[in-house]
Amino acid sequence: MKVLKFGGTSVGSVENMTNVKNIINDGNKKIVVLSAMSGTTNSLVDIANNIKVSNTDKALQDINALHEKYILVIDALLSDATLNGLTKTYVAERFNFLIECTYKSFSQLIENEILAQGELMSTFMFNSFLQQEGINSCLLSALDFMKIDAHKEPSFNYIQNNLQTVLSEADTAEIYITQGFICLDDTGEVSNLQRGGSDYTATIIGAAIKAEEVQIWTDIDGMHNNDPRFVEGTKPISDLSFDEAAELAYFGAKILHPQTILPVRKDGIPVRLKNTMDPIAKGTSITGNHVETGIKAIAAKDNITAIKIKSGRMLQAHGFLKKVFEIFETYETSIDMITTSEVAVSLTIDDDRNLEQIVSELEKFSNIEIDTNQSIICLVGHAIVDHEGTHKLFKILKDVNIRMISYGGSRNNISLLVDTENKIKTLQKLNGYLFELVTL
Ligand code: ADP
Ligand code: ASP
Ligand code: MG
Repeated sequence: MKVLKFGGTSVGSVENMTNVKNIINDGNKKIVVLSAMSGTTNSLVDIANNIKVSNTDKALQDINALHEKYILVIDALLSDATLNGLTKTYVAERFNFLIECTYKSFSQLIENEILAQGELMSTFMFNSFLQQEGINSCLLSALDFMKIDAHKEPSFNYIQNNLQTVLSEADTAEIYITQGFICLDDTGEVSNLQRGGSDYTATIIGAAIKAEEVQIWTDIDGMHNNDPRFVEGTKPISDLSFDEAAELAYFGAKILHPQTILPVRKDGIPVRLKNTMDPIAKGTSITGNHVETGIKAIAAKDNITAIKIKSGRMLQAHGFLKKVFEIFETYETSIDMITTSEVAVSLTIDDDRNLEQIVSELEKFSNIEIDTNQSIICLVGHAIVDHEGTHKLFKILKDVNIRMISYGGSRNNISLLVDTENKIKTLQKLNGYLFELVTL
């Protein structure tokens, strides 16, 4: 069985939902994972933020505006009076729940429950649409099988067992529809897999059922060789290895949630990235194979903090790095890049929630300098560090101020740290040097 995930744009209009219906209705049994309609999760984040700061009027105004938008979509999607009525009732219940949230005292759980409403509504609406079109579909609640543990990792055995149960209970269905993004946490409360998490839902399900393939359908024709939001003339990449795709996803290629590749890599389940609006475009195929060497793509990750740890007696004092790493471990903060010299070590983190405590521990034996608003620019390709074309990368040094370089940590990745204000310029320059697509 295949798992097909459709993102926000793919379920964001009646026209696109019709495209999705045509793509999935091919006579093969499958699991379809859906995101919220595009823009909905952002609106729900705003609503939650307004409730948090007791801006109740604004929250209620936004809830009503969003509800009206959904009524228009339902009327355009569902001409069948019974299904139209049923769906409007379900959606009205979700919006009543949001209104109730404005009177409750705010908590992380309330926020998670607010954010969950988008996927609950999109899957209900789309399942009604399939019923109207006479397709044998069944709606599965992701909250019946998707769960994370106390470290926010998927509880794999639980997911596998529970998913098997819900699938066998609905055995006669041809198409299973379920929500991406949402899950239960270790205490059984509603939680989520972080923004963009529907991709991750799809590969977790793919691994749990040992799927033949996972397809991620979105609004672009596959993984491009640079960020199309900031660089003109980017091109889709037809083949990527799991390693390359995992690096690109982790280092900011927004088309994939950072963890998407992890669940499927072990079993070698292929992942295909496809465009809902252009289904015949080849897209990107992600497998265990390495096709050609050299630089394939560039991605960027923002909100990075660089920490320089300076100590007079660093490298001579063995055990110094161990001491440093133990502090990061204590505060459950992972390190992305690291460079060392005789007197200092610089490293980067993307989660600065415990920065203050980390710095006060480090200051007990070193001097600390912090740079915020940094971006990691990551160049990815199989054996990139050995490739003859890679030397062109260093031309960038004359144009952009690079704070750190990581070269050789893996053969597939070279990372540069720049001020975020220089990110777009760096991506564009690199595109010119490395792919020779843009004349700067
Ligand atoms: P979905 O809602 O379908 O999950 P996303 O917005 O999360 O879609 O991801 C698709 C978007 O990712 C594209 O529209 C594109 O702007 C952006 N993107 C960023 N980097 C890349 C890249 N390297 N290749 C393709 N798309 C990228
Ligand atoms: N709806 C969620 C988000 O916008 C999850 C997803 O789209 O993948 O982050
Ligand atoms: Mg996404």
